[in-house]
Amino acid sequence: MSDYRTETKCVQAGYRPGNGEPRQIPIIQSTTFKYDSSAEMGKLFDLEASGYFYTRLQNPTNDHVAAKIAELEGGTAGMLTSSGQAANFFALFNICQAGDHIVSSASIYGGTFNLIAVTMAKMGIEVTFVSPDCTDEELNAAFRDNTKAVFGETIANPALTVFDIERFAKAAHEHHVPLIVDNTFPTPVNCRPIEWGADIVTHSTTKYMDGHGAAVGGAIVDSGKFDWMAYADKFPGLTTPDESYHGIVYAEKFGKEGAFITKCTSQLMRDLGCIQSPQNAFLLNMGLESLHVRMARHVENGQAVAEYLENHSKVISVNYSGLKSSPYYERAKKYLPKGGCGVVSFELAGGRAAAEEFMGRLKLAAIETHVADARTCCLNPATSTHRQLSDEQLEQAGIPAGMIRMSCGLEAKEDLIADLEQALA
Ligand SMILES: *Cc1c(COP(=O)(O)O)cnc(C)c1O
Repeated sequence: MSDYRTETKCVQAGYRPGNGEPRQIPIIQSTTFKYDSSAEMGKLFDLEASGYFYTRLQNPTNDHVAAKIAELEGGTAGMLTSSGQAANFFALFNICQAGDHIVSSASIYGGTFNLIAVTMAKMGIEVTFVSPDCTDEELNAAFRDNTKAVFGETIANPALTVFDIERFAKAAHEHHVPLIVDNTFPTPVNCRPIEWGADIVTHSTTKYMDGHGAAVGGAIVDSGKFDWMAYADKFPGLTTPDESYHGIVYAEKFGKEGAFITKCTSQLMRDLGCIQSPQNAFLLNMGLESLHVRMARHVENGQAVAEYLENHSKVISVNYSGLKSSPYYERAKKYLPKGGCGVVSFELAGGRAAAEEFMGRLKLAAIETHVADARTCCLNPATSTHRQLSDEQLEQAGIPAGMIRMSCGLEAKEDLIADLEQALA
């Protein structure tokens, strides 16, 4: 399917039924798979043959959907995980171990920030956070001899900063490590980080890919471009024998195209078991079939709402990379020519109290800790996700008390704006 356009891949990639087979991806709701002899099953355990033996590692439903996401991103291999958190953890932990170090953009999802700064620190993996807008000197100074990866988000949740993928990829490659990009917000419909030099792409499929608020999930895609063997000393997990698999050297046996995902599946999924359920993979695929149609509408609604808010007297500022006033407007034109996503944030005059009152008056937009859903939703970080912070701390974190994050859904933009208008009045 690689010759087809993104829109066609959304609908048809990953699964091509044969004669008389189901048109829709079958849900293989089975924990295990039957074999005629233990010799045949043994080949699977030795990674000598490909096939299925236990759904904790791999399941055919998941693999069809992962293959679709890999094709959409322009990668060579992909896998699904139980959540976006698991996807980012696996992507990093597949090449980092105790004593290693990561360079990460500071402007990332709060859950990922905790994962890297707190939980992975307990595993002995250190991190240096850099501003996504840092200078080249600052970026280069963040690297150490034990640095194993660079991490960033194409459009950060919730700060909505736009990541300069090409620049960070260049810096990562100059230091002989891969760039991992979380592409959750734009999805491959609006940006394909591999085309800009990213080596590994991750997703919380919980967001736009599912798009209906139905299934938590994650995905990892490998570009197949990073040459692990060229920097073999840095990545022993891929370039030296895995004793738990009869001494297989992943980078030798599966090449640049397959080593990363094969190791991630056969080691991390085997040992940590964060598999997506086949039922959720099926629901995810239903979302992917219309992703290209929905993203265009999310962007149209986000742009319309951002423009409306920017001209409203009770709104202090609006954060949306599609606005000419955004510091990320030029960068977004480069990486997101079709627009970014439907998430807009803005600061209301009157702080916390005004934000609470405004949100209480909204009729269409529901108050939720969620984004990227067909239904418009909103959140005031000061009274919810960041309620432990004082007003001063909120200011410092760039999240003023009156800030609202609004995820524009697929409703008519006129109705969304009318809802804002009556609530602001
Ligand atoms: C939500 C989100 C995650 C975490 O994904 P879950 O599916 O909730 O585990 C990671 N990255 C980004 C950018 C997100 O928005």
